[in-house]
Amino acid sequence: MVQNNVQKAADLILHSEHVTGFTGAGVSVESGIPPFRGEDGLWEKYDPGILDLDFFYSNPEKSWSVIKEIFYEFFGKAKPNNAHKALAELEDMGLLKSVITQNIDNLHQEAGSQVVYEFHGNSKKMVCTNCDSNYDVSNEILRGNPPKCPQCGSLLKPDFIFFGETIPEYAYKKSVEEAQNADVFIVIGTMGEVVPASLIPQMAKENGTKIIEVNPTPSLYTGQMTDIFLQGRAGEKMKELADQVKLKI
Ligand code: ZN
Repeated sequence: MVQNNVQKAADLILHSEHVTGFTGAGVSVESGIPPFRGEDGLWEKYDPGILDLDFFYSNPEKSWSVIKEIFYEFFGKAKPNNAHKALAELEDMGLLKSVITQNIDNLHQEAGSQVVYEFHGNSKKMVCTNCDSNYDVSNEILRGNPPKCPQCGSLLKPDFIFFGETIPEYAYKKSVEEAQNADVFIVIGTMGEVVPASLIPQMAKENGTKIIEVNPTPSLYTGQMTDIFLQGRAGEKMKELADQVKLKI
């Protein structure tokens, strides 16, 4: 019997020791979160300058009023979709070690994923720009404009990276370790255009990792480093994949 690509991918996962997920904007889009880039992306409507670190420090009120609109009024209601759920299920079955995500929406954790490396940080957390205290986002925290640290009264910043900031050290270190240790990467909903995140699957490939790719259209990875391409929507294909894995267990 000739296997289709979903069956091949399921077999590969079941016969591997270390499988890692790697997700991008395409996964969040299916939960109703628009991408930043491209047609209909948020940067068509908003000025990306509001997330420039220097602008933020010199104009915290202006920056914060747009940040609230985009990330808290608008994104706040998004729920995990089948792609998030499938990854959480694979982890629960002991078949997935971690998820590296470029998304900042916390939806992997909300779907039940335990080990998540957030390459660009997390919008559901706040950090004080003075005393480094951390807070979960809440209406109370967001009330001020700009929001202030309850401990020391200084400016709070959402704990995702702004333009001009480096990748969070821990997430970067763990992502590189995954690229060194994984035998399979499942790359989902990312076109491979955002550096340095896009280099992680490439690093994995150079270490001999097999790449399963899930995308609606071919990306910079397809035909270059992808071993098995599952073409389609992230939620649909990841559910098929998780279902196929369950059938074979
Ligand atoms: Zn503080």
